[in-house]
Amino acid sequence: MTLSVAVRKAAAAAVLGAALAGCGGGTGSSPKPANEARPGSPPAPAPASPSAAPSGSPQAGAPAPVPVLPPGPNGLTPVFERAKQHSDKTVALTFDADMTSDQGPRAASGERFDNPQLISSLRALKVPATIFMTGRWAEEYPDQAKAIGNDPNFEIANHSYSHHAFKSPCYGLPALDGAAAKADVDRAFAAFRKAGAVNTVPYFRFPGGCYDDQALRALSPAKVTAVQWDVVSGDAFAKDPDAVAEQVLAGVKPGSVVVMHCTRSAAPVTEQAVRNIVPELRKRGYRFVKVSDLIGK
Ligand SMILES: [Zn+2]
Repeated sequence: MTLSVAVRKAAAAAVLGAALAGCGGGTGSSPKPANEARPGSPPAPAPASPSAAPSGSPQAGAPAPVPVLPPGPNGLTPVFERAKQHSDKTVALTFDADMTSDQGPRAASGERFDNPQLISSLRALKVPATIFMTGRWAEEYPDQAKAIGNDPNFEIANHSYSHHAFKSPCYGLPALDGAAAKADVDRAFAAFRKAGAVNTVPYFRFPGGCYDDQALRALSPAKVTAVQWDVVSGDAFAKDPDAVAEQVLAGVKPGSVVVMHCTRSAAPVTEQAVRNIVPELRKRGYRFVKVSDLIGK
């Protein structure tokens, strides 16, 4: 069992590594703006309160009260991977909105790090989801960050500001100094607030999924729960949405967390894959939830 977990984690890391390699400029291909949706085009609904939030108008940027895990031994940042409760057929789709701090020029020249069509489809399918957003992404797409962060269907979690590595080596990502870890996380939350996102949650996903005890210690003042995953979708640079869907369908178990991407240039078939995955998992009796609905269960 330990071995299979190790293999799965290695596979997960490899997939993310591939994504990151591509983000570093490997492919050089600009995605065609097919099926163009205007960024931020869906009307932002009135800031309805998320399930656990008190009614009334929440303060912009105030995190919704959601469950968190208690700190680990010696105050280390706790890590969540999959719900412990396995009798409920629930599954959380999570989407990393990746953008590194040096990718501004690529965005300026037309590369799309967003995926508005994916967000629209999640809304249309009524699939709640957790978006692990980088602060840099929120700065590039503030209207979308605001719309996502005011839609009770979604919650925005932290994927760092810069998408630098919190543990080195990590697929060639520039390493963040341990002392800078909390500041980088704070900077991302500040970017969400500045964009006007309300439904932010104190969850954090390490860039590349790379962490060790030192990283968990460096992050402990940020008081976040680190969120990994147990199902790798393989959507990074995938060309065949059916293959992505198959991989997810084969991996999902009750309480699973699936990692996917909300970054068109690095994950171009994710939206199509989701449209295949959702009805099939529902047919199998699964209910889609956010990470906050799984944590502590
Ligand atoms: Zn990432």
